[in-house]
Amino acid sequence: MTTSPTPVCARCSRTLTWIITPWPEGHLCSTCWTRALETHGRCTGCGTERMTPGIAPDGGRLCTDCAGIPGSYFCLRCQGEGRRHRDGVCAHCILTDRLAELLDDGTGRIRPELVALSEGLRGAGRPRSVLSWTSRAHVQRILRQLARGEVELSHDGINSLSPWRSATYLRDLLVHHGVLPAVDRQLLLFQRWRADWLPTIGDVEHRRLLERFAAWHVERKLREAAVRGPIGPSRDAQARRGLVQAAAFLTWLTAHGQTIGRCTQADLDLWHSEDFLARRPAQTFLRWCMATGQMPRLAIPTRSTANPAPISQHQRLALLRRAVTDTGLPLPDRVAATLILLYAQPASRITALTVDDVLHDGEHVTLRLGDPPSPLPEPFASLLLAYIANRPNLTTATNPNSRWLFPGRRGGQPLQPNSLKHRLRRAGIPVVHGRTAALRHLVLQAPAPVVATMLGYQAETTTRIAADVGSPWTRYAPGDHTRPPGPSPTRHRPRG
Ligand SMILES: [Zn+2]
Ligand SMILES: [Zn+2]
Ligand SMILES: [Zn+2]
Repeated sequence: MTTSPTPVCARCSRTLTWIITPWPEGHLCSTCWTRALETHGRCTGCGTERMTPGIAPDGGRLCTDCAGIPGSYFCLRCQGEGRRHRDGVCAHCILTDRLAELLDDGTGRIRPELVALSEGLRGAGRPRSVLSWTSRAHVQRILRQLARGEVELSHDGINSLSPWRSATYLRDLLVHHGVLPAVDRQLLLFQRWRADWLPTIGDVEHRRLLERFAAWHVERKLREAAVRGPIGPSRDAQARRGLVQAAAFLTWLTAHGQTIGRCTQADLDLWHSEDFLARRPAQTFLRWCMATGQMPRLAIPTRSTANPAPISQHQRLALLRRAVTDTGLPLPDRVAATLILLYAQPASRITALTVDDVLHDGEHVTLRLGDPPSPLPEPFASLLLAYIANRPNLTTATNPNSRWLFPGRRGGQPLQPNSLKHRLRRAGIPVVHGRTAALRHLVLQAPAPVVATMLGYQAETTTRIAADVGSPWTRYAPGDHTRPPGPSPTRHRPRG
């Protein structure tokens, strides 16, 4: 028995923040007090099986009578012995009332399918923790929705619930108590991972989009697969990689001043070209975004897994040679192919070029793709000049004086980028792979920031590709060469 001026717990020596009637051994902190009242077993004093909150000098457990603990610990409702929660009634009885109310199907009784859940929760060793969980507003809302059939009592129904953590926890409970069929173990691991991972996404818009994708696509597919047989760890890992890369893509777009809704083909190509294999898992997300109208419908870059590298330098040279010599190909296609293979230009940028972007000082030909203009070596210069003298679609009445390098059929309009891509593919020129190869080769020949400036890409992109291919220019400092004054080139700047 102690009455110290600064009271500490007689069991754990913690400083007391609130004082309750002292027990024979002294004051108890709330933790020790609660734990004591949740201890049941055989009393070493009288041998009765009951609540044994007391501790004998030899360490044995004692009932309230044998320990001399003051107060009353019998529930006025059920007469059970334990801590009284409220109005002399134990937590177990209060929990029973609460579950009867929350799980009422509207007829004054617990929805029959949920009786097992109710029994399971009531049978839990610590009713107070269940009471605390079921006192949260969103948990009450979810339970009521399920009980009244406002949300389907199924895995799909649970998936539609928010917040995720509570829905996942409830799913575990429903499966554990046999209300819902057991789900695949790997699927559960995925769900838990997802519940932990999503809150780490800082951008709220990104997180919401990824939440929807995870629930409505990734998890639905996994559950469909689980019906046919156990999901292996590799499938789970693949699903996680897909989400992680999807998040990486959204972050990348933000860093480039873009959003998923305004994403362009050039963005998609560029992102893939930086590290195709690592980023490919995001393609499921991209297809889903296009199908659900979250982003414009664009062509998803593909590359055969049998040949995972961009086209080789050898292939690139062969294609360039063909562009110059193959007179069987239409001249516009040959010129466009040259620009793609030499400068890694997206189709949208090529069709935006005007004849004024081709500078000819009588000796050298340069192309204004960025600042400074990029030199165009022979024999490509001659090919381009020959083409400019014979551009198509100039004879139509609508286009007499077009300055577009690739005039379209419609008056005053350049050729549509998709038409150009289509024509090049038909001619056997791989547009995306060709660009990737060109970009990779370019950064081996010049410092990445210089390439970036010349071509109007962001320096960080070309720097990353430079590091990727082991360019000797990787550590080139952009500040070493000052750019000529004037507005810095923006990406994919429309021209003309
Ligand atoms: Zn204590
Ligand atoms: Zn006893
Ligand atoms: Zn009771």
